[in-house]
Amino acid sequence: MAQNDFTLTNGRALSEIVEPLLLWYRRNARDLPWRHTNDPYKIWVSEIMLQQTRVNTVISYYNRFLAELPTVEDLASAPEEKLLKLWEGLGYYSRVRNMQKAAGQIAESGYFPNTMPEILKLSGIGNYTAGAILSIAFDKPEPAVDGNVLRVITRITANSGNAATKSFKKQVAAALREIYPKTGCGNFTASLMELGATVCVPNGRPLCESCPLYKLCRARALDKIANYPVLPPKRQKKTEELTVFILKSENDRVALNMRQNTGLLKGMPQLPNVPGKLTLEGATDWLYKNGFEGGTPVKSFHEKHIFTHIRWEMQCYEFNVAETPTEFIWATAGELENRFSLPTAFKKLLEHGL
Ligand code: SF4
Repeated sequence: MAQNDFTLTNGRALSEIVEPLLLWYRRNARDLPWRHTNDPYKIWVSEIMLQQTRVNTVISYYNRFLAELPTVEDLASAPEEKLLKLWEGLGYYSRVRNMQKAAGQIAESGYFPNTMPEILKLSGIGNYTAGAILSIAFDKPEPAVDGNVLRVITRITANSGNAATKSFKKQVAAALREIYPKTGCGNFTASLMELGATVCVPNGRPLCESCPLYKLCRARALDKIANYPVLPPKRQKKTEELTVFILKSENDRVALNMRQNTGLLKGMPQLPNVPGKLTLEGATDWLYKNGFEGGTPVKSFHEKHIFTHIRWEMQCYEFNVAETPTEFIWATAGELENRFSLPTAFKKLLEHGL
């Protein structure tokens, strides 16, 4: 089939999905906090949090974030430490840093942009997020094409375009833009996402018997559901080895330092670490070179952490040390809890064996 062919089974038009989807959505939509508002700021926060994070996890983060920072202006002026703390555990901290930059842009202009060209100028907002905000908050016929939507559309049209490419996503967006209802654009966007999340699911068999598009779905009629969407094979994750130090002082404080301002977890606090796997002898040597004399080894263990494209294999050593070198930040348990946003990869090392 041609990649720009978005017809349904028996050559029916894509527009035929609109009514059954909206009806199904009205009856079946999950009750989620961001579905009770059309405030663009709140929709934006929810959409950014939902990238890479499960709905159930996002709910409490969303409520807490908006209780602390209820307006764009509050976000624009929040201290970074507070911002990172509110995001702690969601990962991909660049998302919230970009949000703060964009909030600054919005606060400066005095209004929340409501056209595609304007909204795309905001830091960290791409076509997907822009479409979600414009349709849900401003009732504009702008699609938001994420993985859920791509799965539904490629299946109902049995379209074998490469779903990982920008050009294909653009084609899907263009096909959808043509069929948006005159009002209720947000519900149409949400209905496509919801169907992909709860019925035409990513893992395992889709629940076709409960699907409002059952009769229209081309892949189902052809019995070729598993063929769609067409995606290139996943890239192998790169593995990085590192040695991480848990340095505990006599005052029950833990040594931290800050990551560089580029790359993975940029600018975040971390447990001191070096590339490669050191032996206990090598680790003791590192301590000595960093000004710690007579550190006492407490335990060593291995742990891994998986990011989107990288897998960390961590050799961890815990030492009792004296608080001598000044380039480290010495954090109490309370500060680790309430002040520093230690990324999960390191946090779980502190919790190891508890
Ligand atoms: S009929 Fe099945 S494959 Fe087709 S859209 Fe519905 S759930 Fe997905």
